[in-house]
Amino acid sequence: MSDSERSPKVAAVVAIDGPAGSGKSTVARLLARRIGWFFVDTGAMYRALTLAVLNAAVAPEDEAGVMRVLSGLRIDWKESREELCMLVGGKAPPELEIRSARVSASVSAVASHAGVRAWMVARQRELLGRGALVMEGRDIGSVVFPNARLKVYLDASPAVRARRRLLQHPEAGLDVAQVEAEIRRRDRRDQERACAPLRVTAGARVLDTSDRTLDEVLECLEEWVHEE
Ligand code: C5P
Repeated sequence: MSDSERSPKVAAVVAIDGPAGSGKSTVARLLARRIGWFFVDTGAMYRALTLAVLNAAVAPEDEAGVMRVLSGLRIDWKESREELCMLVGGKAPPELEIRSARVSASVSAVASHAGVRAWMVARQRELLGRGALVMEGRDIGSVVFPNARLKVYLDASPAVRARRRLLQHPEAGLDVAQVEAEIRRRDRRDQERACAPLRVTAGARVLDTSDRTLDEVLECLEEWVHEE
């Protein structure tokens, strides 16, 4: 038995992990609304940093440069009815820009640096002080909250994930084959990185959403939350 399995569960956290386009954001947001907890999109945090890195003309692979940008960011949290959203310099990072193809192509490289991950994990853990959390990302159940009350790994086939991404963010201006190639590339980088790779962690329940409706997925997760 691992240390995390021996220590008590954190009752106020649902951790949802999975690859790009598996439905994590939509599902986590709606689940949070149903159970009255805060939704936290940790991918948006890595994307906001990546946008700042690109705007500063720093290469995503340059760890020292990325850490310099990170240390210059002024971070706050906006608490809305159902979401905790990270503000940079007092503002919500522009959605269109953080979801752009340019940021998507660089975010895995930025997220692979150990210093970046340590900073993000510390900020994410602090949020527990604000209330109960439905947090989604890649390492929430494995690293951020290994003792979460419920750990879920959402998955779906690459073709389904590409179609969903396109419906969600048509503004990126890509076709379905390009989106699928991009998410496969990103999955590979997220799964192969040395620090906190994307994987199904011990104790996580796996749910393939390819052939399930959103309502079916939500019903299932809500049942799991109450079972735990
Ligand atoms: O969830 P989303 O696709 O917006 O995440 C963007 C990227 O941020 C991922 O591809 C991954 O490289 C990184 N990420 C991460 N750990 C998290 C959340 C996101 O490494 N907890």
